[in-house]
Amino acid sequence: MYQPKSLHEIRVYHSKIIMSTLRQNGPMTKNDLALKTGLSLSSVTNILKILTDRELVTLGDKIDSFAGRPATYIVPVLDAVYSVGIEVSQYSVRFVLMNLGEPILAKEKHDALFENSDAYWDAIHEWLEAFIDANNVDRGKLGGVVLATRLAVSSGERIGNIPVLLDRSAEMIDTEALCRKFEEYNFDVALNTKIAGAIYGLWESKDLPDYVYLSVDSTIGGCVVRNYESVNIYDLSDNFGHMTVHPGGKRCSCGRTGCLETQCTASGLYMRLNLSSLDEFFTELENGNEGCAARWETYLDDLCVALNNLYMSYDMDIVIGGTMAQYLDRYREEIDRRVFADYALFPVKRKLIFAHNGEYAAAIGAAAVVIEKFIAKKIS
Ligand SMILES: [Zn+2]
Repeated sequence: MYQPKSLHEIRVYHSKIIMSTLRQNGPMTKNDLALKTGLSLSSVTNILKILTDRELVTLGDKIDSFAGRPATYIVPVLDAVYSVGIEVSQYSVRFVLMNLGEPILAKEKHDALFENSDAYWDAIHEWLEAFIDANNVDRGKLGGVVLATRLAVSSGERIGNIPVLLDRSAEMIDTEALCRKFEEYNFDVALNTKIAGAIYGLWESKDLPDYVYLSVDSTIGGCVVRNYESVNIYDLSDNFGHMTVHPGGKRCSCGRTGCLETQCTASGLYMRLNLSSLDEFFTELENGNEGCAARWETYLDDLCVALNNLYMSYDMDIVIGGTMAQYLDRYREEIDRRVFADYALFPVKRKLIFAHNGEYAAAIGAAAVVIEKFIAKKIS
């Protein structure tokens, strides 16, 4: 568990816990907050003073309590800040709008083939403006717009403070043009999709201090999260996608064969059978299509080898995100059985968690960066 050292660190840590509890649960009384967080009533009182001063919480209605004195609801100021996350991928652009509350306020997807042109970035900018207007966002409260992409950046490994990782299998973005556009449009940072996805995992799994995040999408990757701290995520991105799960399998861009990245991508599942979408694949599978059943069997075998390796290496819960999360969720019992059952060495104490909104994971992760930064700045 995370052990804050100085008084300041303890104050920041407790503030984060209280803000997170309020964002998840909505208005609560001081007593309920103490019960829910396990902090003492005096700690909660002290932290609430700070949070009220910083305009992150406010006092709501009084309610009658059984103890005699009426209690007051502590209300999180949800619209203190707004944030937009954009995910740019090869075939589509996804937008997500968030404020301090949960769940996300709005999402939108445009089908658009990626191209290295001003016209492409201008179109994204126009969609963004329309998205902000359509949702009546007070622009004075817009904390930032963060863009995440799995497309490789051709040169320069850092934009802003964020390292952009190279993915050799992906199409290349002209970095200079992207940077120019960033300045022109006031976008904040570029993130690797896998990292943004991991931050999303962090956003969604607040009760989970430590876990392995695995994004299963048209590429595969992830990272290890410890102590809720997203700051370290930028350095913790792991190439889970290139672990061997099927020796002698399909050749991968990394030069080896049978990588998770080549065996278990979302698009690979249906494209190899000449189907047009994941929905079509799963409809066919459920209707007893033998080709789909055979393909699914191999897919699950390979994926479960990876999940088992991650479980054995880290002994942590595993959060699965990305487009595949919602489909894999339907087969969670089967996957659980393959990963955890018949394992005799020690009792299973870990679980698999399938992230909601998997398709929007990277966009949400990108938007969550702004929210987290906003809260951290207010508290410290
Ligand atoms: Zn590989």
